Amino acid sequence: MNSLLQAARNVINTFSKVINNDRCSFVGNVTVGKDVSLTQLRKAYTAVVLAYGANSERRLNIPGENLPNVISARHFVGWYNGLPEEQDLKLNFDVEDVAIVGHGNVALDITRILLTPLELLKKTDITEQAITALSSSKVQRVHLIGRRGPLQVAFTIKELREMIRLPKSRPVLDPEDFKHLADCFEDLPRPRRRLTELLYNTAVKPTEEDKKLWSDATQKWYLHFLRSPVEILSDGSSVKGLRLVKNKLEGSIKENPKAVSTEKTIDLPCGMIMTSIGYQGIQLDPDLPFDHSKGVVSNENGRVTGIPGLYCTGWVSRGPLGVILNTMTDGLDTGKMILQDLKSNLLETNKPGKEAVIKQLKEAGVQTVSFDDWKKIDSIEMSQGKLIGKPREKMVVISEILKLSL
Ligand SMILES: Cc1cc2nc3c(=O)[nH]c(=O)nc-3n(C[C@H](O)[C@H](O)[C@H](O)COP(=O)(O)OP(=O)(O)OC[C@H]3O[C@@H](n4cnc5c(N)ncnc54)[C@H](O)[C@@H]3O)c2cc1C
Repeated sequence: MNSLLQAARNVINTFSKVINNDRCSFVGNVTVGKDVSLTQLRKAYTAVVLAYGANSERRLNIPGENLPNVISARHFVGWYNGLPEEQDLKLNFDVEDVAIVGHGNVALDITRILLTPLELLKKTDITEQAITALSSSKVQRVHLIGRRGPLQVAFTIKELREMIRLPKSRPVLDPEDFKHLADCFEDLPRPRRRLTELLYNTAVKPTEEDKKLWSDATQKWYLHFLRSPVEILSDGSSVKGLRLVKNKLEGSIKENPKAVSTEKTIDLPCGMIMTSIGYQGIQLDPDLPFDHSKGVVSNENGRVTGIPGLYCTGWVSRGPLGVILNTMTDGLDTGKMILQDLKSNLLETNKPGKEAVIKQLKEAGVQTVSFDDWKKIDSIEMSQGKLIGKPREKMVVISEILKLSL
């Protein structure tokens, strides 16, 4: 099973157990900061946990970034996953080369979507609109660009292995980038060592099985190291390429070396550019203590600095690192902090709770979505998917979704 599906399934199982506890309720279609304020929530509840993720992204800040077909990975992932707010994203797949800036799992995931044979993609839960758009794709080559070297990639091994074995595609890695690494494997921490060995073997001594798998590849994906984008090249209206500066590393390659630009540049021809160079949380409320340099709520182990009863967890608490599993662990840790504070009588327990918030939302005319409504949406999506041989077909128009909860 695809590792994302496995992670999503674990989340669904855990969530279903928790939501069926009658002390837990689900109130959907509510935006904190718009429909209800943080102050209102804090007045209503003994403890409030902020778990709103990192919903803004870092930009390249280079000329040409506002051209059509230069897209943030976050928007692209939202588009093919059926997020209603991303359905108007303008994409032109009539291009042979795509450059993706970033060497993390998101970059790999996008590469996978761009290169997966259509007959396999049709069996996943990506939207029909995305499948239709991708069915006319001319993409032949995907270039993943990283500012540092192979020892600094942020992929996880499962995701990388899946990508290396993707049918009809082959990885292209320059053995020159890896030759100095063979004698430093032993000193690396185990996860980094396994990841580096996989990259090294793929580049320098692929197995017969791998070679056989790649023999019928019609598309390629490249890992480019020690390159940073400096300019998007265009004919004035459409992307023609990406100018990259070559970098060198300063500091020990096994620790946290810095990428420093050299004078040399190279131009990579491409017609689409996606950026996946980091995500940031936003400050939900002007009174919320916030570390703007890291894009996270200021906190100590999940306790928001200086505000008893306010907690945070996940990416908005620790920054955009790790996968769903890490976020679940964060959630458990923050839960333990709340229990500790309750036991130590640090929290005000005499609060009105959910009823007060529901009343305020009703008065403000907000149409909320209950868990029973969610189940209706889920069941319709699953049955729509079944009709066309997919796990689900997502509903992408909010007004249609809300009709089900009237
Ligand atoms: C593009 C992309 C692809 C990824 N792919 C994978 C993958 O394949 N596998 C994997 O394991 N991990 C993946 N990750 C990482 C994974 O998404 C994170 O580890 C995890 O989602 C972080 O969880 P979170 O709870 O902190 O934030 P999120 O999962 O982002 O949850 C935040 C929630 O808060 C809601 N929200 C935001 N603002 C408000 C507000 N004002 N009011 C109310 N609600 C609000 C959002 O709608 C969202 O539902 C990916 C991340 C990105 C950015």
